[in-house]
Amino acid sequence: MQYNHILIRYGEMALKGKNKKHFVGQLSHNVKFKLKKFPNIELTKTHDRMYVLLNGEEPQPIIEVLKDIFGIQSMSLALKVNSEEEAIKEAALHTLTDPAGVKTFKISTRRVDKQFPINSQDMNRVLGGHLLQSTDGYTVDVHQPDIEISVEIRKEGTYITSEKIQGAGGLPVGTAGKSLLLLSGGIDSPVAGYLTMKRGVEIEAIHFHSPPFTSERSKQKVIDLAKKLTRFGHKVRLHVVPFTALQQSMFRQIPQHYGMTIMRRLMLQISERVAEKEGILSFTTGESLGQVASQTMESMHTINQVTNYPIIRPLVAMDKLDIIDISKKIDTYDISIRPYEDCCTVFVPKQPKTKPDKEKVSGIEAQIDYGEEFERTIENIEVLEFYDEEAEEVNEFSDLF
Ligand code: ATP
Ligand code: MG
Repeated sequence: MQYNHILIRYGEMALKGKNKKHFVGQLSHNVKFKLKKFPNIELTKTHDRMYVLLNGEEPQPIIEVLKDIFGIQSMSLALKVNSEEEAIKEAALHTLTDPAGVKTFKISTRRVDKQFPINSQDMNRVLGGHLLQSTDGYTVDVHQPDIEISVEIRKEGTYITSEKIQGAGGLPVGTAGKSLLLLSGGIDSPVAGYLTMKRGVEIEAIHFHSPPFTSERSKQKVIDLAKKLTRFGHKVRLHVVPFTALQQSMFRQIPQHYGMTIMRRLMLQISERVAEKEGILSFTTGESLGQVASQTMESMHTINQVTNYPIIRPLVAMDKLDIIDISKKIDTYDISIRPYEDCCTVFVPKQPKTKPDKEKVSGIEAQIDYGEEFERTIENIEVLEFYDEEAEEVNEFSDLF
């Protein structure tokens, strides 16, 4: 006997009432997209479960892909058999004896199909008895079993599953609108992007690039980070803003120590223009309270004044070490620590204001004349588009679903 299904359990979206259909539809779309490289599988869904029918495919590589898809709470390998006592017994026996190192077990039956002649309690006893008789060295432990075998009896068949494999949780990407991620080459912003995607949000990214002060390699770093984020969604568009001329114009016209604050405000003003054009309704940043001069309460307040867009700051109350842990988990850490400078490090004054007064800042800003540089910067934004390569490779050649 071989496992022939993967059972997928939904996360909190199971609670979403009327919207549930929409959530399940999006999740199924996302799962199909990511699993296109496994041509033999089939996907079926019910209101509370999804099943990947393996049709001979190896389950493990598929599980690895599913682990990155938001909206999946957990998964289990499953055997689907006809809802007949003998077939269920045989499948339960396989599920018990297949994994190594198991000594104790528990059976949990759920009889969804009430026409099935044996009720859940009795079925637990029937199966438990069968397993004990047919094997040596196993015992029942209802409190802390090595393996819990779940038996779900439905009309269309019975699913026998063993261990639960943890999914990514969250909500399916595409169910919560789009946000523009201010993506630097640092450790924080990719993590912020990942966490926002986890809440079902699709991400576009914007990066401020200052050649020749920042190198091609620092741009490549951001491209590599944007590509990494496609692992959790279908695609990421990256808007690269040629920032140098505007930055230089600004720094020539203002007192040095206000540079950082005004530059940040400029970033938000440009981001707003991109968001307007793309129909995006919020920004996401990697800001975390207290980390650097721009991230004091006063700074955030003053910088925030230039926009009415909501700014999602998933890291605002997180410790750096926890952020680093996530960046390692999502594989962005090694890219982020490549040593190339970004536009802020190059231009940031030695002693930036940590408590910039907002009236003062507005006053200084009112004096700046950018000429045509602001509009020119916006016109020259370069847009790059990245797809999840693994899924996309197959996507181009076949349309299996
Ligand atoms: P990160 O690790 O994300 O670079 P940080 O701790 O270095 O963050 P800052 O440099 O103050 O903090 O940046 C705060 C946030 O501003 C970043 O998380 C990012 O969202 C945004 N940001 C900074 N520099 C850029 C840039 N060059 N392009 C786009 N966004 C940027
Ligand atoms: Mg940074």
